[in-house]
Amino acid sequence: MVTSQLVSKSDRDRIMSDIGEAIEWLSGFGADPSGGVTRLLYSKEWLSAQKALAQHMEASGLHVCFDDCGNLYGRLEGEGISAGTLLTGSHVDTVKSGGKYDGAYGILAGIIALKYLRDNYGAPKVSLEVVSLCEEEGSRFPLTYWGSGNITGKYSLERVPDIRDRDGVELEQAMLSAGFGKGTYRSPRRHDVLGFIELHIEQGSLLERESRSIGIVNHIVGQRRYTVKVSGTANHAGTTPMDVRKDALAGACAMIQKLEEAARLEGGQFVATTGLLNVSPNLPNVIAGEVAFTVDVRDANADTLERFCREFHRCFKEIADSRELHLQIQEWMNEPPVPMHAPFNETLRNICEEYNYSYRFMNSGAGHDSQLFQAVCPTALAFVPNKDGVSHSPLEFSDPGSLADGIVTLIEWLYFYGYKGGELA
Ligand SMILES: [Zn+2]
Repeated sequence: MVTSQLVSKSDRDRIMSDIGEAIEWLSGFGADPSGGVTRLLYSKEWLSAQKALAQHMEASGLHVCFDDCGNLYGRLEGEGISAGTLLTGSHVDTVKSGGKYDGAYGILAGIIALKYLRDNYGAPKVSLEVVSLCEEEGSRFPLTYWGSGNITGKYSLERVPDIRDRDGVELEQAMLSAGFGKGTYRSPRRHDVLGFIELHIEQGSLLERESRSIGIVNHIVGQRRYTVKVSGTANHAGTTPMDVRKDALAGACAMIQKLEEAARLEGGQFVATTGLLNVSPNLPNVIAGEVAFTVDVRDANADTLERFCREFHRCFKEIADSRELHLQIQEWMNEPPVPMHAPFNETLRNICEEYNYSYRFMNSGAGHDSQLFQAVCPTALAFVPNKDGVSHSPLEFSDPGSLADGIVTLIEWLYFYGYKGGELA
């Protein structure tokens, strides 16, 4: 049980100005003319940010090291006999012309929290570390979670995927050019992480709409993605009567509309999306002979996902049959929902209640590094609100007060498990 407030009003005010400054500072690495931030994995901007963060961690009194895939750690050594580490942090890479907060906030919050704890309480019982993960977004190479994936064993530097960026540069070559992957640093794989917590901006508008300070994530949603191919007959738009057409585009539209209707009926945070549509031959005076479109379905409940997807398959088939169209549905992603660690969430709830922060339990509709950590250690993910839910954009913004409330929560959480002996199992 969290019993008292460690962080005073004046401490919180200082944290608020510190995080505001730190966000601006870090956004200078990779700042682009649009006002956004571009730090693609192993790029010059990415490397300068990691090096600057290393100095910043050192100046905050942390022991600093890189691992061999480019993750950066700042460590506050524990006094206890346990060799384990409690880890917090997020990713340093961005999408092209992304915002200042996505990823960056979780790293900077971790540094501020660890410095606060060290300055006020000295060495913890359990070692605490903040990590600046090298890659999460998948915005340079066609893979995601390269940083947390190497720590948790999803990826390995012994088998670097044979993939290239848009300019034809291989992942391995990019890594070597940035100074990693040569065995200079320690192996990224870790077996000593006792727990992980990530602070992140919500990237949605639920918290803001409900005027809440903290979102405690129960599940990172499961995702399924499909490519749907509808084939009919391309024909003359002027001479083919309506009743004999096999119009692939009209059929696809009926399917997409049904998909949206059905998703609305599910309610809650359930979502289904068609975001990509290819029409052939895509001409104004020809009935479409073939259409391919995507379906992206997300929910926190595996059974709901399963039922919904079965149902839309049946419904699409019915529409195709009634229009004499040929239908092909290919599933190319099926990731189950990932539950976060309930006892960690209870601690977050206790902290919010102690500080009178308005909070809610919620699901994350976006993927996060936390889902990789949850596969190997208990994990928590907490959100703070961001303006209008806008993210992956130069317009991304969170007010410093919200950022500070998140950091206060993180400090208390790390104190509970790192100093007070909160049960980590
Ligand atoms: Zn992120």
